[in-house]
Amino acid sequence: MIVNRLAAGLAQQQALGLYRRRRIVSGPQTPVLQTDDGELLSFCSNDYLGLAADPRLVAALTQAARRYGVGAGAAHLISGHTAAHQALEEALAAFVGTERVLLFSTGYMANLGVLTALTRAGDLILQDRLNHASLLDGARLSAGRLRRYRHADMDHLQRLLAPITGACLIASDGVFSMDGDCAPYARLIPLARAHQATLMIDDAHGFGVLGTQGRGSIDATQVPIYMATLGKAVGVAGAFVAGSADLIETLIQQARSYVYTTAMPAALAEAACVSLDILATEDWRRTHLFELIRFFRHEARLAGLPLMSSETPVQPLLLGSADQASAWSQALLQYRILVSAIRPPTVPQGSARLRITLSAAHTKAQVEQLLTALTHISRQHHV
Ligand SMILES: *Cc1c(COP(=O)(O)O)cnc(C)c1O
Repeated sequence: MIVNRLAAGLAQQQALGLYRRRRIVSGPQTPVLQTDDGELLSFCSNDYLGLAADPRLVAALTQAARRYGVGAGAAHLISGHTAAHQALEEALAAFVGTERVLLFSTGYMANLGVLTALTRAGDLILQDRLNHASLLDGARLSAGRLRRYRHADMDHLQRLLAPITGACLIASDGVFSMDGDCAPYARLIPLARAHQATLMIDDAHGFGVLGTQGRGSIDATQVPIYMATLGKAVGVAGAFVAGSADLIETLIQQARSYVYTTAMPAALAEAACVSLDILATEDWRRTHLFELIRFFRHEARLAGLPLMSSETPVQPLLLGSADQASAWSQALLQYRILVSAIRPPTVPQGSARLRITLSAAHTKAQVEQLLTALTHISRQHHV
C-alpha cells in the first residue's frame, strides 16, 4: 500500500541530508523575523523592495476587505472577477506596455496555464535547464515535447532550433531564481525571432527590481509572452501574464489553471495596485538595494567567499555539497542569521548553495553583520 512506504521514503531523505522542515514565523516579512527560534536576521525572503509589510499596502488591503469581503467566492469566469481585478490588470498592462494582462492566483499556476493552453501535440518546448520548476511542470503537463538546453548556452539552443520545422515555444527565467543571473537576452531574442519561435519570459525575480521604474529584466513589449509574479518584489501574492489581446483571450478560454480555480481575493488585487504605484515611483528602494548588492559583492570578494556571477538581489554562495550548504546555514543560525541552504533537487548535484537575498528593507549595518558572520564561518569550513 502506498501509505505504508512513506516512512521509509522519509527516512531515506533524512539520511541523505535532504530533509526539509518549516520554520514558524509569527510576524511580518521584515529583515528581523520573529520565529519559533526567536528573532532572526533574515536574508532569504523574496520581498526585494521591502513592500510585503508596507503600511500603505496593509491599509489598502483592509479597506478593500471592508468593501469586497475576503473570499472571491468563485473563479474569474463565474462571479469572482471584480472591479479590483480589472483595475489591476489595466494598471499592469499600462505599466509594462502590452495590449493586455491576465491575473493568475499564483505564478506556478500562470506557468502551467500558459504552457498547457498554448502548445499542441507536435509542438516543441525548449527550456533553459535551470528554469523554475513551474515552467518544467507546465511543459510536462502540456501536449508539447520538452527539450532542455544547457544553462544560458545559446549555441546549444541554436543547435536544438536548427532542425525544427513545426511550432516552437522557448521559455526562460528572466532572472534565474537560484543563481541570480539574467537570461542572455542579446542572443536569446534574435535567435527566437530568426527561428520564428515564441519566446516566454518568467520574470518573477526581475519585475519591480530591474529596469526603468522596476519594469523588469526585459521590456515586456520585446517578448510575445511576459510573465511575472506579485508575491516577490510587489509584496502581495499572485501573478500576471502580459501580451497581446489574442494571447490573453486564449488564456481566458483555455488555461485550465485559470478557468478551474477561485480568483485571488479582490483585496489582494487592490493591495497590488497600490504596491505597483509605490514601486514605480519610489526609485530610492532600487537605488538602496543596488548599493547593498555592490557593497555585499565587494566585501564578499575581499573575504574570498564563493560568489556567483549575479548582479541582482539573489546573491548565492556556491558551496558544493548539500552537507556543506547545510553546515553553513546551521553555523549562520549561531549568529542569529537566517539564510536557507538550497540543495538538490532544487539545484543540480554538487551545486548546493546558500541563497542569500538582499532587500531594500535591509540596512548596510545588517549586511555588514552578515559579512562578518560569513567571514568567520568560511575560516572554519573549507569551501
Ligand atoms: C516564485 C517563482 C514562481 C512561482 O510564483 P508563485 O507566485 O510563488 O507561485 C515562478 N517562477 C519563478 C522563476 C519563481 O521564482
